[in-house]
Amino acid sequence: MPELPEVETIARSLAPLLTGRRVRRLTLRATRLRKPLDSSLAEAVYGRRIEEVGRRGKYLLLHLDDGFTWIWHMGMSGCLVHQRLGETQAARKHDHVIAELDDGGRLVFNDPRRFGLSLVDRMATCGLFSAMGPELLDVQAFNGPYLASWRRRTGRNIKDVLMDQRVVAGLGNIYASEILFVCGLRPTRRLARMSRAACDAVVVAAREIISEAIEHRGTSVSDFLDGIGKPGGYQWRLRVYGRRGQACPRCGSAIKSVLISQRSSFYCPRCQK
Ligand SMILES: [Zn+2]
Repeated sequence: MPELPEVETIARSLAPLLTGRRVRRLTLRATRLRKPLDSSLAEAVYGRRIEEVGRRGKYLLLHLDDGFTWIWHMGMSGCLVHQRLGETQAARKHDHVIAELDDGGRLVFNDPRRFGLSLVDRMATCGLFSAMGPELLDVQAFNGPYLASWRRRTGRNIKDVLMDQRVVAGLGNIYASEILFVCGLRPTRRLARMSRAACDAVVVAAREIISEAIEHRGTSVSDFLDGIGKPGGYQWRLRVYGRRGQACPRCGSAIKSVLISQRSSFYCPRCQK
């Protein structure tokens, strides 16, 4: 599932192609993604100009010229890809939403598993964001004292806490695993039993890894593509995620995996305590 670095990569690749463009036509080829799609989406974006491309957590945002925002979530397998005039192709299987733009380009949302989301709403009042935690790269809001303050608020393990979008926005299974490896913490460690210094270390590692992953344009482990259809490059740098049985890059021990909240978490039994 695309996490913060992947969605940021999509946003950065789409920004120069979409900013200032008007939506000329919207075709819905499916009626159901995570939520039903209907003609109200087409009405909401018809003729609108895209003023800015942004991101909040794992959501891609196309801010429109009427104060509303076209909000996208890639779900498990969604790709939002721009095709230039002359590159436009016949619709493929799983192309569910096709927006034609005023320069002849198209924006195509392809999602085989259909957990993606596409809707238009006002950011200030949209329920998706009302309880969302701070952005991970927002130093003022997401820092050691902030994470430490959650110790009294939850009995959960650090892995689940990092993946909770109410605590911090943008992390999922891949980067939570990588962050905990870098700071030497077992994914099953309870946040409440972590020292203030350990909370600081998690925040520092999170910032480093996420910045590095954005620099490498995200991780393509299964099907992630950016806004021009290019895969990311961070999969070659993963330390533990998806590497069960392989050697730990630090100590050489075999990497293990454990199921936490129905998700496989990868860790080194020797380096992570
Ligand atoms: Zn190790």
